[in-house]
Amino acid sequence: MISFPGNFKTRMQNLLGKDEWNDFAEALQQAPPVSIRYNRHKNAAPQDADKVAWCAMGRYLTTRPAFTLDPLLHAGAYYVQEASSMFLEQAAVLWRGQTGLRFLDLCAAPGGKSTHLADLTPAGSMLVSNEVIRSRTAALSENLTKWGNPNTVITHNDPKDFASLPDFFDVMLIDAPCSGEGLFRKEPAAVEAWSEAHVKHCAERQRRIVSDAWDALKEEGLLLYSTCTYNREENENNIRWMTQQLGAEVVHIPLQAAWNITTNEYGYRFFPHKTKGEGFFISLLRKKGRSLSSASPMSSPPKPFSRGERGGFLPSLSGEGPGVRTAPAWLNGDFTFVREGFYIYALPDYLVHDVFHLQQHLRFLQAGVKVGEVKGAGVVPAAALALSAALRNDAFPCADVDLATALRFLRREALALPHIEKGYCIIRYQHLPLGFVKNIGARSNNLHPPAWRIRMNI
Ligand code: SAM
Repeated sequence: MISFPGNFKTRMQNLLGKDEWNDFAEALQQAPPVSIRYNRHKNAAPQDADKVAWCAMGRYLTTRPAFTLDPLLHAGAYYVQEASSMFLEQAAVLWRGQTGLRFLDLCAAPGGKSTHLADLTPAGSMLVSNEVIRSRTAALSENLTKWGNPNTVITHNDPKDFASLPDFFDVMLIDAPCSGEGLFRKEPAAVEAWSEAHVKHCAERQRRIVSDAWDALKEEGLLLYSTCTYNREENENNIRWMTQQLGAEVVHIPLQAAWNITTNEYGYRFFPHKTKGEGFFISLLRKKGRSLSSASPMSSPPKPFSRGERGGFLPSLSGEGPGVRTAPAWLNGDFTFVREGFYIYALPDYLVHDVFHLQQHLRFLQAGVKVGEVKGAGVVPAAALALSAALRNDAFPCADVDLATALRFLRREALALPHIEKGYCIIRYQHLPLGFVKNIGARSNNLHPPAWRIRMNI
C-alpha cells in the first residue's frame, strides 16, 4: 500500500479531478505490468504475447521471470522496459523517409530509450548516447554494446558541453531527470524523495538542461522531451517555456483513440489507470528556423583519434594472429578500423567524419564496434564484436550451447568444447552470440567481460 507524500494527493486531484483520482490511486495498488521490447536486428521472434499497441516490438509478459538468468537478455535480444516509454516510437513518423540523420540522447543511462532510438534511426544515421553521471555510464555502455547497433557513440559530458556543436543534431531526446511521480508503484524511493521543493528543483534543472543543449539542435530539428512524472511544472509549464523562450513549436504525434493516452496542446501523458504502463509524459517540439538542408556545415575538418592512428593497424591484423581472421572479414558493411591506445574500433564508413569531428568536442567512451585489444602480434576479439548486429555469421567458429552451458559462460566459468576447433570461438544460445571463448583444446578460456558476469545464484 503506497502512502502518498505531502500534498501529492491534492495536486493529483487538481490534475485529474476527484473521481478519476480514485481510479488512479487504485491502479497504483496493483502490481506494475511487465513488458519487454525486442531488438529488431537480432532476429529473436517475439513471443506469442500481448502487444504494446504503440510499439511494434513491445510485448507484455504475464509474469516477471528472473531476467538475469535468461541468456537472451545478455545477447541483447530484448530490453526490459516499461511500456509507456515505448511511445517514443510514434515520433519516428516525423523522420520516416529521411536518411543520414544525427540523433542525440542527452540523458541516456541506463539506455532504455537509446536502445529504442538505435532501432528507429534511418539508414546512414548516427546516435550519440550521452550520460553525465560517470557511475551510470557502465550500465549504458553494457546495454548499448549488447544491443549491437554499430551506429552508436557513447559520450560522458555535461549538457553545456554540447553548446560547442551548434546546429549539429537533427533529433534530440531529453529524457530529463525528474521527480519520478510516475514510478511510485515500482520504486518506493521515489515516494520518499518526493516533495514540492523537489518538483520545483527538478523543473528548474530541466530548463537548464534543455537550454544548455538547445544550440546543438539544428533549426527545424526535433526535440523529444520526456519525464516520468505527472505534475505540470516539469511538463506543460516547461514546454510552454520552451515555446516562449526558445522559439520551439509543439508538433503533433498521430494517436489512436483506443490507446487512451491523455493529451493536450503541450504533450502526451500516460496514467496507469488508463494505459497499461507507468506514469510518463512526452512532448515533441520543432526548433523554428531555416530548413534542414540549409543548416550550417561542420565548422572544422575531421582529425583522427588523438592517441591512435586511422586504419594503420590493419597490416598487423592480416598476419598470423592467434587464430583470428583478418578484420575486414568480420563485419557486414563498410567499416573503417581505428586504433585508440590498445583497442581497435570499427566505425561505419558514413560515421567516420562525424566521429572525428565530435571527438574534438566531447569525452568519448566508445564509438562504433569495439573489435578487440591488440596483444603482441594479434588481436583478442572483444565481446562487443560478438554482440554486434553487423557481425558476419561466418566470421568465427560458433558453439551452440544449451541453457546450462550458456549460464556457465555468463558466469565466466571455463567451458570444455572438445568438438570445436582451437582458437577464438563464439558461444551462441538459440543462435544468438553471447561472447567469445578461446578454445585451447581440453578447456577454453572465457572472454566474457568480468563486469558483466552473472553473480546471481542459479
Ligand atoms: N533515458 C534513460 C532510459 O531510458 O534508460 C533514463 C534517463 S533518467 C530519466 C535521467 C538521466 O539524466 C539519468 O541517467 C541521470 O543520470 C541524468 N542526469 C541527472 N542529472 C543530470 C543533469 N544535470 N544533466 C544531464 N543529465 C542528468
